[in-house]
Amino acid sequence: MNMILLGPPGAGKGTQAQRIVRSEGIVQLSTGDMLRAAIAAGSDIGRKAEAVMAEGKLVSDDIVVGIVAERFTMPDCANGFLLDGFPRTQAQAEALDEVLADAGLKIDFVVQIEVDEAQLIGRIGGRFSCPNCGAAYHDKFNRPEVDGVCDSCGGTEFTRRPDDTAEAMTVRLDAYNTETAPLLPYYKARGALVTVDGMAEIDDVTRQIMAVI
Ligand code: ADP
Ligand code: AMP
Repeated sequence: MNMILLGPPGAGKGTQAQRIVRSEGIVQLSTGDMLRAAIAAGSDIGRKAEAVMAEGKLVSDDIVVGIVAERFTMPDCANGFLLDGFPRTQAQAEALDEVLADAGLKIDFVVQIEVDEAQLIGRIGGRFSCPNCGAAYHDKFNRPEVDGVCDSCGGTEFTRRPDDTAEAMTVRLDAYNTETAPLLPYYKARGALVTVDGMAEIDDVTRQIMAVI
């Protein structure tokens, strides 16, 4: 099963992706995570992407398509993959179509997670995560069971993203509205789009997505 999670920053794509891949035995492919890994590794791509990401702008299509294109064919994707944060532009969606067709693969469905803008800002403002295992938390909506200890791996260090600021969030929302939202009709026209209510609680959103699957 191959699927895309589509939605604005803070919609809950990463949170839901972690749950779905665990239950379905597929692989999460997050271009944001790949780019952050490239920055941490100090690679060429990381150096090119770092300032752009901090500002909240989109990294160039060439770079993003380049990092994701080769992943589909790796053995860990044999069961399927879940794209989180990709595609984000029409050019990326078309490049994805081509790469998948070349590999004899297809997207089974695209899940749109719908959340209103005021809620997104609150979610981004309180987001933190465990750098050891990637588990995502929120100051108010999704705290670890034991304060200061990661539920998944027991880690005790948490980080916040440098682009989770009010300034970068404005730019990121604008990028979503102008570049990414037009992909919704693109996938709807193919009959591949399903919309879930992302305003609901985390478990409920998971149930809605599992019902689609
Ligand atoms: P995205 O990957 O779409 O940017 P995340 O999954 O990182 O979004 O979620 C953003 C923040 O909102 C995180 O702190 C997460 O814990 C929290 N969150 C995710 N889903 C919900 C939800 N349904 N209700 C409340 N908070 C949520
Ligand atoms: P995310 O982790 O999905 O919120 O992405 C964080 C940042 O990484 C974005 O604000 C962009 O700067 C960059 N990024 C991630 N995925 C893409 C993509 N598909 N296209 C362009 N930029 C991306």
